[in-house]
Amino acid sequence: MSSILLDRAETAAGTEPLGVTCRGLVYIYRLEGYDVVALSGVDLDITPGQSVALIGPSGSGKSTLLSLLAGLLPPAAGRLRVGDHDLVKAGPAELQRMRAGDVGVVLQGSERNLLPYLSAEQNVRFAQRGAPAGRSVPVPREVLGLVGLADAARRRPGELTPGGRQRLALAVGLANRPGLLLADEPTSQLDAGARTEVLTALADAHRAGSTVVLVTHDPDVARSMERVITIRDGRVGAEGRRGEDYSVLGRDGSLHLPPEVAEALGPGALLRVEPQPDGTLLLVPVDRPEEER
Ligand code: ADP
Ligand code: MG
Repeated sequence: MSSILLDRAETAAGTEPLGVTCRGLVYIYRLEGYDVVALSGVDLDITPGQSVALIGPSGSGKSTLLSLLAGLLPPAAGRLRVGDHDLVKAGPAELQRMRAGDVGVVLQGSERNLLPYLSAEQNVRFAQRGAPAGRSVPVPREVLGLVGLADAARRRPGELTPGGRQRLALAVGLANRPGLLLADEPTSQLDAGARTEVLTALADAHRAGSTVVLVTHDPDVARSMERVITIRDGRVGAEGRRGEDYSVLGRDGSLHLPPEVAEALGPGALLRVEPQPDGTLLLVPVDRPEEER
């Protein structure tokens, strides 16, 4: 029994899987002359060890949310916790420590995560240079093995296939056995075979003990995660769990309906709200009164 536990500890993530709490999270890009509100009050809890897909229209704030979770952008308002880190209060040193040890980030576009003149093995080792003192990091070849690149240790990114490069980017994100792995569109621009390779690597990372949050446009990729969260207009709009659809009540009382329902009703549709004796809620589309048309 104890040897099994030991084995698990050996192969599991360096830290425990990390949870995430967002409350009223706001982010604003300040441009010359005007502001863009990219996140307008995100409320979201991710429990340690979950796998979550963020989906939603282009420009809805998915990448921005991922960057906040990674500690790469500071919240403008609201609360944000990643594991023990309070990202509103954290100073640069704590953020640096968190990124170096607890959180693995795979930015969109594999090349943004890789140094082209280093081999696969050297890329992983480079990512390990900032690991906190006392953290035992896996040998790079072990990390490469996790993404199926054990035989490509000496190859440079340019000598790998697009799927191989994306898996190497994943290996770099996993270099320090993070408790939270964040990946932005890790399968975009990959063919079906390469996409499967990346998904397998992600599933292995999840099994090895990381909480996984990824952004994707791909319905198949989204379905492979435990939770599918739709971001709309900078907020959590809806959620799917095991094939069931849920609407999420916004802090301003707004409710996003599943896209196909919203589309069928049209913007401005009037819905009568009828609480039922059994605790369910009935929304009944009604015609607008004559004088309002
Ligand atoms: P998504 O990843 O869902 O496509 P983003 O988080 O990239 O959405 O963008 C959310 C909003 O913020 C969009 O309106 C986008 O135009 C804007 N935005 C994103 N990055 C920047 C930036 N660096 N400067 C200014 N505006 C940005
Ligand atoms: Mg994006």
